[in-house]
Amino acid sequence: MTTPAPLDASQLRALQAQPLLDQLDAAGLSLEDLLAMRSSGTLPSQVTLRRYLPTVRAAAPAGSSKVYASYWALLDVGLPNLCGCGCAACLAVLGRRDDAGTQVPCACLARGACSCPKDSFRHPAVTTCADTYPGLGNRPLAAITTAEIEAAQQWAKTRATKRWAARNARRAAAGRPGYAHSGKSAEEHVRDAASFIFTCAIDDPTTGVRVNTALKAPKPRRPKTTARAYSTGQLAELWDAIFTTGGEDAELDMRIFWFHLETGARRGGALALRTGGLDVHGQNALLSEKGENATWQPMSTELQRSLVGHAIERGEVVAWTSPALDPKDVTVDDVAAGRARLHPDRPVFYYRRRRSVTLPDGTTRSAPHPLTARRYNSLWDRLCRHVPWADQIHARPHDLRKTGAEFIERACGYAVAKAWLRHADGDQTLTYTKAKPAEIARGFELYTGRSHPLAAELRPPGGDR
Ligand SMILES: [Zn+2]
Ligand SMILES: [Zn+2]
Ligand SMILES: [Zn+2]
Repeated sequence: MTTPAPLDASQLRALQAQPLLDQLDAAGLSLEDLLAMRSSGTLPSQVTLRRYLPTVRAAAPAGSSKVYASYWALLDVGLPNLCGCGCAACLAVLGRRDDAGTQVPCACLARGACSCPKDSFRHPAVTTCADTYPGLGNRPLAAITTAEIEAAQQWAKTRATKRWAARNARRAAAGRPGYAHSGKSAEEHVRDAASFIFTCAIDDPTTGVRVNTALKAPKPRRPKTTARAYSTGQLAELWDAIFTTGGEDAELDMRIFWFHLETGARRGGALALRTGGLDVHGQNALLSEKGENATWQPMSTELQRSLVGHAIERGEVVAWTSPALDPKDVTVDDVAAGRARLHPDRPVFYYRRRRSVTLPDGTTRSAPHPLTARRYNSLWDRLCRHVPWADQIHARPHDLRKTGAEFIERACGYAVAKAWLRHADGDQTLTYTKAKPAEIARGFELYTGRSHPLAAELRPPGGDR
C-alpha cells in the first residue's frame, strides 16, 4: 500500500477554491460582482460604526441627539487623552485644554511612561496610563460584541467618576463637602446610545445587523432619586440668598425660583413656556415638558402678572396695541384689559443682557436673549456656595417640584399630587381616582395660599380659602 503524495500548495488552494466557486454559482454571483461590491464599500462587514454614524445622527430626534452625541463620539473615537487613573496628578489636568482647544493628556501619557500607584486606577482592567480607550469606530457594526459595549460603558463610567473626583478635589480645597457619584448614568447613557445605533441598523439590511447587541449589556440600576422637599424655613433662606449673594440678575432668578416652586414645572417647562401659554384670566400656564402633551397648570395672578411684566420688559412680545397706546408703554394692565395683545409664540423668560443675532442679509442686530438651562446651574451653584445646608444636600432645581408635590400629596392625596406633577406614566390603580381640574386647583390654593377660580366649588362653606 502506497501513501498518496502530499498535496503541494497550488493543489491545496485549488481544493479550497472549488467549494467557494460552487457557492458563488449557487448564489448567482460572479467574481466580478464580488470585487465590485468590495471596492464600493457596501459589504456588511465594511459598514463600520464610524461609517454608519452619520445615518444614525440624521435619524435621531433632536432630543436624543443632544443626550447621545457625546456617547456616540466616545463609541466612535474612544477617549484618546483620558487615562484610567484617578491619582491627584492625573486628576489635576482633567478637562484642561491647550490653546488649540485640544484636551491635555495626563503627564504619564505625554511622557510615555506611567508611575502612578496601582490602586489609583479607576478602570478595573487598566494598570497604566498608556491604556486608553480606542473606541469602536473601525469595527463592523454587525461584529460588535456585548463585551465591547460593556468596555465602552466602563470607560464612560471612568470618565464620569474622574470628573466628579476632580470637582470634589476643588471643592475640598475650598472647604466644601464633596458629592458621591457612581457614574451609573454614564453607563446607562452608553447603553442607550449604542442601542439607538443598533435599532437603526436592524432596520437597514445593508448593515448585516440582526440583533441589538447593546440590549444585552448591563443596565445599571438608576441611583434612587435624591430630590427633597424644603421646609418653609429652608425656602425662606434660599429666597433671601437669591437677593443677597451677589447675583447680577436677582430679578430673573427670583422669577425662576417662584415659577418652579408654584407650578412644580420641570426645567424644560420654563424654557418652553411661551407668552401664549400665560392665560391671565383663567390663571393657568401651558406647560410642555419632556415631549409630553402640553397641559394647563394652575398659577397665581401674582405670578402671572410678574411673568407677563417680565416678558414685556425684556422680550419683544407686544403684537398689537389699541390706537391710543404706544407699544413702548404697554404694561401688564394693558394686556389684562385687552388694550394690548402679545405674540403667542415668544419665550417668557429672558436674560437682562441682550444678544446679537445675524439677519438673513448678513447684518446683525441686538435681540432679547431667552433663558437657557445654563442659568439654572449658575443660580443653584451660587445658592449652594452661600447656604451650607443646601451645599450639603446638593440642592437642585428639582427640589422645588418635590416641595410642592409633597405638600399637595399630604393635603389632597396621591391622585391630586400625581396630576399636579403631570406624570406621564399610566398608573392603572388611578383609573377611578383620577384628579379633576377643580381638585388640582384646590390643591394649588392650599399649597400657595393664593386663590384659583377653578377651586371655588371645593372650598369649605364659610371659609374663603
Ligand atoms: Zn495617575
Ligand atoms: Zn500614570
Ligand atoms: Zn494618567
